Amino acid sequence: CLGSVVMDHTFHVQEVVQPPSKNRATSYALGAGGLAANASIAVSRLGGNCIFWGRVGDDLNGTPLLEALAAQGVDVSHCRRAPNARTPVSAVLVDPVGERSIFAYRGDNLGTDPAWLPLHLLDKAQAFLCDPRWPEGSAAALDYARARGIPTVIDGEKSETRLLLDLIPRVDHAVFSQPGLGNYAPGLKPADALRKAIADGCKVAAVTRGEKGTLWMTAEDQTPRVTPAFRVMATNTTGAGDVFHGAYALAVAEGQPIDRVMRFASAAGALRARDGATPDRAMLEQLLRDQPG
Ligand code: ADP
Repeated sequence: CLGSVVMDHTFHVQEVVQPPSKNRATSYALGAGGLAANASIAVSRLGGNCIFWGRVGDDLNGTPLLEALAAQGVDVSHCRRAPNARTPVSAVLVDPVGERSIFAYRGDNLGTDPAWLPLHLLDKAQAFLCDPRWPEGSAAALDYARARGIPTVIDGEKSETRLLLDLIPRVDHAVFSQPGLGNYAPGLKPADALRKAIADGCKVAAVTRGEKGTLWMTAEDQTPRVTPAFRVMATNTTGAGDVFHGAYALAVAEGQPIDRVMRFASAAGALRARDGATPDRAMLEQLLRDQPG
């Protein structure tokens, strides 16, 4: 998994009433956030082996972040520390129904040179998950993986149109958030935007839509399909999309059929939204049994 990590400072807010001074924080937690951190932890907790490639600043947030990932079984030995740079941090406010507002400080530029990426590590990978926030590294790693037939998955999140247009044709599985799909194909209806990704060379294109479930299609059969969301009581939806992506990449690595990949990832996202924590494999398998498709 290649991508960005953030130190999340999460506050659960009891009431959301204007003016904001009436808000009451009922709990506070510090933890690893950002797509690559959440997705890597999901892979590891769901029983996969995950190497995370990324960069942190050489500061007080960087070390605990890598330690938090390592404590969950993620291999961080290939990460880089950028000297004299600050790690991105964010404040996450979670309201009583689990929806969140995020105030992010993106940190310093941690460098963009992909030359340090130990691409040969991909030779043994069963799947590669890529966060598009680091364009040069993503393009180099996606091309390397594709040339070797290693399945690639991208989180088409809120990145710029230009970046998505460059990266989407390089991947097998384009899994968008709703804003990401809008940026990739402005003005197109979701099913048409997914068709565009297929025409650009993806084997599978999907968009996650929270409680409305996942809309997806394959290159063989360009029929839009919906995998419904699992019914859960959401308490904190932060990271649901990231955990969805981690579980998705693991299911691809395990060679699961595509409809099962969608259900597996949806169950992981739902449990994350329900618990505000990443599920383990037994919890996920239980939900798949409890709510059969
Ligand atoms: P993001 O976090 O990127 O905005 P989504 O909100 O679409 O992404 O969530 C990703 C996936 O997690 C959804 O497709 C769905 O499967 C699951 N999920 C998220 N929120 C809920 C919810 N409230 N109930 C059930 N499943 C959810």
